Parts: sequence; C-alpha cells; structure tokens
Amino acid sequence: MLSNYHEIFKTVIKAYYEDNFEEKLQQILDEPGIDKIKTSRIIASLCGVSVEYSDNFVNDLKRALKNNDITSPIINRIADCPIECIETQGKTFCEATCSFDAILVDKTNHLVTINETKCISCGFCIEACPNKVLMDRSEFIPLIKHLNKRSC
Ligand code: SF4
Ligand code: SF4
Repeated sequence: MLSNYHEIFKTVIKAYYEDNFEEKLQQILDEPGIDKIKTSRIIASLCGVSVEYSDNFVNDLKRALKNNDITSPIINRIADCPIECIETQGKTFCEATCSFDAILVDKTNHLVTINETKCISCGFCIEACPNKVLMDRSEFIPLIKHLNKRSC
C-alpha cells in the first residue's frame, strides 16, 4: 500500500509519463485495505483540484482537470480529525499554531476547515498536525501544470 504523499506523488507522476494515468489511479484505489476517501482526497490535492471519492472518481477527476477547476485555499484537509486532538488550552494543535485565526474546528463532527480569506498559506498548521490531516497543495504545483496541459 502506498504509505505517504510522496509515494503517491511519485506513482502519479510516473503514470503520467508512462501514459497509464487512469489505470494507475484505479489500481491505487483498488488496493486492498486502502482508505478510498482519504486516498482520493490526496490524489485530488496532488492534481490541484477538489474531488471527493465516488465510484466515478477517476472520471470526475479528469473532468475537473479538463475544466482547470483549480480551487483554493492551498491547504487541504485530507482526512477526518481524531477526537483526541485537543491541546491543553482547549484548542487543537492546528488552531493553536494559526496566528491568523483561519482554522475552524468542528469538534462534534471532527472536521477542520480553513477560512481562505484569512489563511496566508504559511504552512505552520501542517507541521503542527500530529496526524498528518493537512496537506499543502503548493508542493505539487508542477504536477498540476503538467496535468492541465493534457486532455487525460
Ligand atoms: S497555513 Fe498558516 S494561516 Fe493558513 S490555516 Fe495554516 S497556520 Fe493558519
Ligand atoms: S488538522 Fe490535525 S491538528 Fe488540526 S484538529 Fe485535525 S488532527 Fe488536530
């Protein structure tokens, strides 16, 4: 199983150059035991778009890429937050580290959202998150450009 963003990133890049992008994405999503929702979010983030998992994920991703549907903000949440993620002063680690008050935490539903008008993409919350729930899409801008040039 692909265990981290960089492994997925390398696999997606290789698939792009070997011209088997769709097939490889489907293979990744079909791996036994894989978290399809989280992995789809990672792949979509790598491509610079926001597409949720469905049975039609690969086609939805292709459509979003064709439409050049790049979304903001650059910081993406790729998984739900564990309930135990609360720092001593009652804030989560990402909340505590954000000086711009850009992180909204829904403790009931274990969700974090980023207020894109406040976020300056400093990346501190990514480093602060012990659970690797947040991801910076800007790392993958070269891939976004490559993919948007093709009609895959
Ligand atoms: S990237 Fe920086 S400004 Fe944006 S939410 Fe994270 S810590 Fe706050
Ligand atoms: S993004 Fe990370 S630090 Fe923030 S609430 Fe979720 S798990 Fe905790």
